[in-house]
Amino acid sequence: IEPIIEVKDLTKQYKIDRKYFWAKDTFVKAVNNLSLQLHSGETFGLVGESGCGKSTTGQIILQLIKQTSGKVLYKGEDISRFSSKRLKAWRRKVQIVFQDPYSSLNPKKTIQWTLNEPLEIHGIGTKESRQELIIKTLEDVGLDANYLKRMPHELSGGQRQRIAIASAIILNPEFIVVDEGVSALDVSVQAQILNLLKNLQRKYQLTYLFISHDLNVVQYFCDRIAVMYLGEIVEIIKSDETSLMPKHPYSQALFSSIPQAFDNGQENIVLKGDIPSPSDLLPGCTFETRCPLAMEVCKKVKPTFKKITENHIVSCHLKEEA
Ligand code: SF4
Ligand code: MG
Repeated sequence: IEPIIEVKDLTKQYKIDRKYFWAKDTFVKAVNNLSLQLHSGETFGLVGESGCGKSTTGQIILQLIKQTSGKVLYKGEDISRFSSKRLKAWRRKVQIVFQDPYSSLNPKKTIQWTLNEPLEIHGIGTKESRQELIIKTLEDVGLDANYLKRMPHELSGGQRQRIAIASAIILNPEFIVVDEGVSALDVSVQAQILNLLKNLQRKYQLTYLFISHDLNVVQYFCDRIAVMYLGEIVEIIKSDETSLMPKHPYSQALFSSIPQAFDNGQENIVLKGDIPSPSDLLPGCTFETRCPLAMEVCKKVKPTFKKITENHIVSCHLKEEA
């Protein structure tokens, strides 16, 4: 089956301001040659430390920012070739939910206004049918018509996130990027919102790209997990609730901080070494400066992906193709 989203060799490079006018231009690669495929109906997690390029990747997939090179395909079609009309229709099908709904909801507008806006932009329905759809969508996210006249500041954090989800699903999308969508919430509220997302996924056959630094949440919520380090994916692994066997030294260190992720009683691995400057990356493995297992070859030769199992790939010189 064809992936709903495919990303091929995506790179996003930023020019940094020169310190001296005679200095050479320097560039930072926020995303470096990244490829992945998202299958319809799955929840795909993107994890890694802050600044590793997770959000940038999500925003490029939605074309909220433009890549420097590489392609994003939607059901096999290159979205950079879409006509503006096709692009607008496509924008209905892809949505994003951010960490802090307070900043994405207009503080001066009622919930009704907020939920009506996307319908108006896309010219959907009559005034009456829009009202019906807004109320149905509020019910979909566990709220009701009593919220129509409320303002964002009158709502709790969890309720605001429900409104943000409502405004993402009201256009009947197929794909939603959830960027740290529960990170700002209390743990008990997090669980409610995650359950809501799961129920909506079943009801509307949604595909999620779930960006998070919270490994517990990702392991619980996602079907597959991609681990990112300095703009690159180093491992993609299938997740299930009982065990996770990451093979890349970076993923192992990352996941060793949540003991329940492992069923082999692995100790917490603390990384030493410095993170290299992203503008000054060496030709070899990006993780080399911090890797407890680094070898001579790692400095010079970039590892390629090896397939461990059908749902597990890892990029490290120590790993052999299964
Ligand atoms: Fe460590 Fe070398 Fe593997 Fe990179 S390729 S993760 S430096 S062992
Ligand atoms: Mg981010």
